[in-house]
Amino acid sequence: MPDTVINMLSDTVTRPTLQMRQAMANAEVGDDMGGEDPTVNRLEARMCELLNKEAAVFACSGTQSNQMGVRTHCVPGDELLIETSGHIAVFEGGAPAALSGVMCRTLPGRRGMLDVSDLEGHVKADNQHLCVTRLVCLENTTNAGGGFAYPVEQLKRVCDWAHSNGLKTHLDGARLFNAAVASKVSVKEICAGFDTVSICFSKGLGCPMGSVLVGSAQDIRKARRVRKMLGGALRQAGIVAAAAVYALDNNIDRLVEDHANAKAFAEAISSIDGIQVEVSNVETNLVFFNLAKELGNAGQLSQALRERGVRIGGMGVQTLRACTHLDVSREQCLQAASAIRECVREGFQQYRGLPFGPFARA
Ligand SMILES: *Cc1c(COP(=O)(O)O)cnc(C)c1O
Repeated sequence: MPDTVINMLSDTVTRPTLQMRQAMANAEVGDDMGGEDPTVNRLEARMCELLNKEAAVFACSGTQSNQMGVRTHCVPGDELLIETSGHIAVFEGGAPAALSGVMCRTLPGRRGMLDVSDLEGHVKADNQHLCVTRLVCLENTTNAGGGFAYPVEQLKRVCDWAHSNGLKTHLDGARLFNAAVASKVSVKEICAGFDTVSICFSKGLGCPMGSVLVGSAQDIRKARRVRKMLGGALRQAGIVAAAAVYALDNNIDRLVEDHANAKAFAEAISSIDGIQVEVSNVETNLVFFNLAKELGNAGQLSQALRERGVRIGGMGVQTLRACTHLDVSREQCLQAASAIRECVREGFQQYRGLPFGPFARA
């Protein structure tokens, strides 16, 4: 195995830089459970200002802040509406059901995105036979949906529809800043119609951990109690919040590079026989591509690449996802593309295959 690995499995694989670690080491801290960590307070205040919301609360992970949102808006027995590929429904260990007693009503959209026409007719009547439809969850950018950024008018349309039907709105903004950069719309505008928004710092922003949930003062007060119940209320959390503050200052403008690198990678693999990728569909830092069945499956290609020091994961039997981030350069993206070309040329059906697809058993 080569000693430098080009890791395009996820944008969560980034490691904090020396400067980020220095910011962490120098962080002023206090007991955050008592609201006395100045660095956490600074981060929360900045997120309120950036997103134009009343309050914010720091969380350990995106899953945690999403679930704080779910529990804040819903009570056991309720249902939430979400696109079929939604992270909250598919990739959070069944948390809405397990932690909040909430059912996910999954609805098919396009590219992981829902519009009003997909949601209409799915708000249950006030009837003792039925559960209460309480919340709409959208994801921006979409993850398993393909890395797309919602058109801002669509977000507004869905939020207006939800509110006029008495529903709450939550945005899973794990990659909110990627969405803002790709759609050239401010995070403030993207978040305007949402009651709560969850943002990850451990993805494209390059932090080791941390998320923030923003919303009204009343909702965030409730979310703090949920966070406590989930074991996510921390003490000197300023150590990690300092990384997020550093990222807000330094790692947002550079997301355009990740998007350009993703496009360059997609272009480079688009000419490989048996690889199917829609270059124009690459809007952000995620590249989904399909593999012709004759060549082998995604797990086999993933393993063949791993032997060559490139990590790209399967997302389905014939589908892979490559992810760009601040720890892969343009040159490395092109090297990864060359490694795919080499694997296809040499064949990779001899590999047993890494377990592919988070969705199904191999
Ligand atoms: C990564 C991600 C999350 C949160 O995941 P954690 O691993 O808990 O930080 C939530 N939603 C989406 C769309 C994601 O991609």
